[in-house]
Amino acid sequence: MAGMTMTEKIMAKHSGKGRVVPGENIWVDVDVLMTHDVCGPGTIGIFYEQFGKAAKVWDSTRVVIIPDHYIFTADEKCHRNVQILRDFAKQQNIKYFYDAEFVKNESTMPNPYRDPTKTNYKGVCHKALPEEGHIRPGEILIGTDSHTCTAGAFGQFATGVGNTDAGFVLGTGKTWLKVPPTMKFTFHGQIPPYLTAKDLILAVIGTTGVDGATYRAMYFAGSGIGSLSLEDRMTLTNMAIEAGGKNGICDVDQKTLDYVKARSNRPNWQVYTDDKDCEYFATYEYDLAKMEPMVAKPHSPDNKDTARNCRDVKIDRSYIGSCTGGKITDMIFAANILNGRQVKVPTFVVPGSTEVHQDMLSLNIKGRKKANGEKSIWETLQNAGCLMGPAGCSACLGGPSDTFGRTHNTEVVVSTTNRNFPGRMGSMKSAVYLASPLTAAASALTGKITDPREYVSGPIETGEAGIR
Ligand code: SF4
Repeated sequence: MAGMTMTEKIMAKHSGKGRVVPGENIWVDVDVLMTHDVCGPGTIGIFYEQFGKAAKVWDSTRVVIIPDHYIFTADEKCHRNVQILRDFAKQQNIKYFYDAEFVKNESTMPNPYRDPTKTNYKGVCHKALPEEGHIRPGEILIGTDSHTCTAGAFGQFATGVGNTDAGFVLGTGKTWLKVPPTMKFTFHGQIPPYLTAKDLILAVIGTTGVDGATYRAMYFAGSGIGSLSLEDRMTLTNMAIEAGGKNGICDVDQKTLDYVKARSNRPNWQVYTDDKDCEYFATYEYDLAKMEPMVAKPHSPDNKDTARNCRDVKIDRSYIGSCTGGKITDMIFAANILNGRQVKVPTFVVPGSTEVHQDMLSLNIKGRKKANGEKSIWETLQNAGCLMGPAGCSACLGGPSDTFGRTHNTEVVVSTTNRNFPGRMGSMKSAVYLASPLTAAASALTGKITDPREYVSGPIETGEAGIR
């Protein structure tokens, strides 16, 4: 009998079985259910419809509600969605509701929070979940967002579901899952300074295609993954869904343990590893020393090419943000390229979370607490001519017409986001090149897609960023 993978072990444990095999349908206990302002109202509607008007959620301490998508807009319907979440959190006594308290139920643009440390608002759910201590190895996270898979970077099973399934979880704390087979992607060597996890995942998706990992676990392994910061690993697992993956997952190491122990107040979680004799659906090997900065050309994340090959592509703007590319390490990567230089095209910077925003204000470009008189990451980017926005999803998925950074016409964008389907960033006529924050920053300086090796001369330190 073959051994089990991490994903199989987590699912077995949560189904009360000693063993599960790929393809088996099982009921599992859910540890955390997350929802946000786009899918939350629909999920809540289904919950009350199916469980009754007086129904109570299965555990008010395990439901996490994070408004993040359509926050900085005057669109009244978007504000109404936040209000629905607010009302529900109150009715159900939800412990972890991160209210965007500055959003009123009216048709005016809300004033962004003045101080990122003095707001309940957190920004993008996938970034805020681990920051606020809701992510632990060995657990099952279900979220009403396809990029819920991001949390697999912490060695847990995390996946996105639709409103109906989420409504059922709200009422019961359980869901029905098919055990996915695992595809293993091994990266050898150490991450070179000109690459980030974004280049790795674009290379993977370019190999598998956007449906090549459909309903499979994508396991990212090897010394190369160990050499990534925890934040950068989140970029890998975040984009597992872009290959159709059910979940993405990484091994738990000391970086993971330190982060989780510092943030989570639940002590009883378990670390799993793949058995040596477990079976994989497929295996892939990559040598980091031989990899190049990558882009995904319009209009699909699997339309891969090297940044070098695209050097003649003129861009109209650069966008650095989202749950994929708006983490503090992404901001440090961009700031190191832009430090002391001026962007040539409009460059939009959107912190993934209010914690990232705060870190951008307090850390220098080496990820260390800035000394008096030293420039912060925020100042470095601002001085380079970047347009700075408040934390949230912003133009990653277009949004209402007044969304910061949204495309409105035929703009060609280089972006650190995760999807470049037509219309994803707003206009159906715009074209989006997905790239790492290094490539997005280098391209902002030249006005063309630019290989960051033209600007990276040595290792980029990230210090304490994204660790504390
Ligand atoms: S930042 Fe983009 S991909 Fe991430 S949750 Fe928001 S809209 Fe989705």
